[in-house]
Amino acid sequence: MAADAPDLPSLGDLLNRPAWHRRAACRGIGPSTFFPKRGGNGREARAICARCPVTEQCLSYAMADDDTVGMWAGTSSNERVHLSKRPPEILAV
Ligand code: SF4
Repeated sequence: MAADAPDLPSLGDLLNRPAWHRRAACRGIGPSTFFPKRGGNGREARAICARCPVTEQCLSYAMADDDTVGMWAGTSSNERVHLSKRPPEILAV
């Protein structure tokens, strides 16, 4: 594997999705879309997440685990780190 290749989720990870994931807009889309290469902007993933009915659950799930990588709810790992540093009232929708 190339040094800059993203760590893709294992099959076990993919099969252990929470129940809300059954309504996810990303179902059936290859994981590489949500793990953009270094320097990538994740534009395709963001477009899919923008029309997803479970974005709120997805973001909560990703924010609950600091080790979650890749695009979740239209956010990158770095963006979620920044979000986690905001006061909770700013995150409320
Ligand atoms: S918000 Fe995006 S990553 Fe999360 S479940 Fe929906 S489509 Fe998938």
